[in-house]
Amino acid sequence: EKRWSLQGTTALVTGGSKGIGHAIVEELARLGASVHTCSRNEAELNNCLQEWQKLDFSITGSVCDVSSRAEREKLMEKVCSTFNGTLNILINNAGTGRRESFLNYTSEDFSFLMATNFESAFHLCQLAHPLLKASGRGSIVNISSILGKVAVDSAALYSATKGAMNQLTRNLACEWAKDNIRANCLAPGHIRTPLLQPILENDEEFKSEQRARTPMGRLGEPEEVSSLVAFLCMPAASYITGQVICVDGGRTVKG
Ligand code: NDP
Repeated sequence: EKRWSLQGTTALVTGGSKGIGHAIVEELARLGASVHTCSRNEAELNNCLQEWQKLDFSITGSVCDVSSRAEREKLMEKVCSTFNGTLNILINNAGTGRRESFLNYTSEDFSFLMATNFESAFHLCQLAHPLLKASGRGSIVNISSILGKVAVDSAALYSATKGAMNQLTRNLACEWAKDNIRANCLAPGHIRTPLLQPILENDEEFKSEQRARTPMGRLGEPEEVSSLVAFLCMPAASYITGQVICVDGGRTVKG
């Protein structure tokens, strides 16, 4: 077992066709993991799988909407048969945002964001537990957000789903240490992905405010997130569990 390698491990990364998830899939595969991923759009997923095949990566994928309980169950069955009943790494990355003022969030927004961002991770952890335990060395990384730690003047519901994810991570770290499963959260700041693209194109005020509030003075790239995800899954990180770690160019430490 090499301390700085993922050689021979298996991983499930949700939402791997774009953005941060796409970078995580490639990072883990490059370091030697066999990866399964999912997304809702089949054509985009198949494009990715074709590209990855050319690069000789060991990556499979299936369509799954992680907000659906039945589809999550199907996904885990697929993972179970692909990896013969074991799984070393679960990355709960699929998620989405809706930036609204508090009173404008609807009950549909509530169900949609809770199911997509939080219930998906909660239930996939439950479903993955036997597989993670069977692997002998499991690692869960939940992708939350700096908005689960600090507050801004909108996005209260989105932020609550991420705050819930942060606490879930701490509880899992305590409950599952005995099964040799670690759980950590990675809280990204503003990362250049398709999710952020509309704001980056249309909202100059947002961009200049964020630049001013971020010590590094720029956005992050998906690869600057995926590198920490990979590290957290390595034997080198074997004493790190229950943590929420920000990758945000210093955004949350500036007063
Ligand atoms: P993108 O929208 O760029 O990519 C999201 C990926 O997840 C796509 O592959 C998408 O494919 C998939 N996905 C979305 N919803 C579902 C679903 N219901 N079921 C299955 N797959 C789904 O997002 P990012 O890469 O920017 O974000 C990834 C994570 O990082 C999210 O949890 C987000 O909250 C978090 N984050 C992002 C930040 C940023 O600045 N970008 C900042 C902080 C946190 P498809 O649409 O085909 O399903």
